[in-house]
Amino acid sequence: MRLSRFHLSTARETPADAEIVSHQLMLRTGMIRKLAAGIYTWSPLGLRVLRRVENIVREEMNAAGAIEVLMPSIQPQELWEETGRWAKFGGQLLKIRDRKEAGYCYGPTHEEVITDFARHELKSYKQLPVNFYQIQTKFRDEIRPRFGVMRAREFLMKDAYSFHLTDEDLAREYENMKAAYIRIFTRLGLEFRAVQADSGAIGGDASQEFHVLAESGEDGLAFSTGSDYAANVETAQAAAPGPRPAASEAMRKVDTPTQKTCEDVAKLLGIALERTVKSVAVMTDGGFVLALVRGDHSVNEIKLGKLPGMADYRAASEAEIQAHLGSEPGFLGPVGPKQAIRVIADREVAALADFVVGANERGFHLAGVNWGRDLPEPETVADIRSVVAGDRAADGGEIRLARGIEVGHVFQLGRKYAEAMGATVLDEQGKSQVMSMGCYGIGVSRIVAAAIEQNHDERGICWPEPMAPWQVAICLINPKNDAGVIEAAESLMADLHKAGVDCVLDDRGLRPGPMFADIELIGIPHRVVVSERGLAAGTFEYRARRADAAEQLDRAALLAKLG
Ligand code: ATP
Ligand code: MG
Ligand code: MG
Ligand code: MG
Repeated sequence: MRLSRFHLSTARETPADAEIVSHQLMLRTGMIRKLAAGIYTWSPLGLRVLRRVENIVREEMNAAGAIEVLMPSIQPQELWEETGRWAKFGGQLLKIRDRKEAGYCYGPTHEEVITDFARHELKSYKQLPVNFYQIQTKFRDEIRPRFGVMRAREFLMKDAYSFHLTDEDLAREYENMKAAYIRIFTRLGLEFRAVQADSGAIGGDASQEFHVLAESGEDGLAFSTGSDYAANVETAQAAAPGPRPAASEAMRKVDTPTQKTCEDVAKLLGIALERTVKSVAVMTDGGFVLALVRGDHSVNEIKLGKLPGMADYRAASEAEIQAHLGSEPGFLGPVGPKQAIRVIADREVAALADFVVGANERGFHLAGVNWGRDLPEPETVADIRSVVAGDRAADGGEIRLARGIEVGHVFQLGRKYAEAMGATVLDEQGKSQVMSMGCYGIGVSRIVAAAIEQNHDERGICWPEPMAPWQVAICLINPKNDAGVIEAAESLMADLHKAGVDCVLDDRGLRPGPMFADIELIGIPHRVVVSERGLAAGTFEYRARRADAAEQLDRAALLAKLG
């Protein structure tokens, strides 16, 4: 590749509206261009990086036995009605009408579509297990799209869905996918961590997230030095941005954007929901938290409890709600800093109460912690507080806090979708069985931004080698005046090409300063300078992106280093 025939469009200035370094650098390098809020064009440079990530993900998914498919991004409303998610998914679902007024959505995820595919394609246990994946564009109407492609509305995801006869087999594939994810993030050259997560709106019994560690991460992580324990922590501010409306005002807005999914509620309140719950609304008013469960959910389904006998909470007065809160054990009432664990029966609600207090006091709280599974049962508020406060974990280790960017998520969904949509196969005895499902996501486009957060310096991006747009930049000094320089560079490039190294030739004829600045800004791991002077001395100037100084190498030494 010759840069003179490529489209490279870099800028010196840091864009004022980009808050984090990856967004700034992706704009300065021209990797992405904004079309609308949370919607970006990938330039030729950006696309090279995106494709590298995509290819590594694809290779490892194939190696792990998953099979690639490509599903539509536009999905019919009827399918989402079957699972009840048309009404319950919330504001992130972009709903569309066609000319016949039929309802569609732009897919934020593909459980419905793949389950529909599976119920038609899979008839016998002999076809199981199977794991279908795709690398495809998603749309989520995020409330606050920000940080460029990090939290975009349109983004590229790898999503995989596995089907099983038994839950044991699902658990096996879940471990297989976790292992594949570890290989993917290791190969990408990222520093990452797998943590406990809530299964949230998608639901299910077991779920873990993969986080790239970075100071700018939207998620807080807590891990223990005494065990493998690691969990997601959320900042209270991130979960509930902006000033909080009074409860009564918020109540009127339940069906508007303040309506939350359970995932949001779990995040907001910092608890692990053990099972899937469908739709809840939550309103906060200072330290006062209340959660209302809609529809048919029992206390078992949601640890936050419910309001019995209150058909339409939206019509209820604040006083009525208060009265209900006071009368329902296990329901979280007004939370004050002095409220003790003993007044609340349910341990998760108790933990939640304290987390809310902790969050109020400290600005963050723990999420994804399932007491009793991840940590010993807390006996006192102090036990819980000790985790929140980072004093001592119950496993004897120290709790460390770090920030992370969620780049992957694996779930054991179980039979939720297959049940709702009637996805069955015949077992060995010829009996119809609902299939068990897993789903596994990776934020392909987010990884690009996350990698930059972790790999940059004051001069620009320092790509991990496997993600770099090119491994080597061959910079030509005065190419227009010196045919020998071009010839030497082209022959070097041909040899590197033979050795499987992807090179770009900077033949734009820029002065060395601006040329080197561009090559450093776009993060090419290796730079070789070809000049008349060097050729006369029989050397090339070589510099690794992160090295302090350049070295002079003869051709053989250079090829040995790069080949
Ligand atoms: P987040 O907590 O960041 O909103 P999520 O939990 O909603 O992410 P999942 O449903 O688990 O996302 O989707 C799988 C992956 O898709 C995530 O792990 C993340 O890497 C990526 N992803 C999700 N939302 C976005 C977004 N708005 N922009 C870019 N990537 C995203
Ligand atoms: Mg999300
Ligand atoms: Mg998440
Ligand atoms: Mg997730």
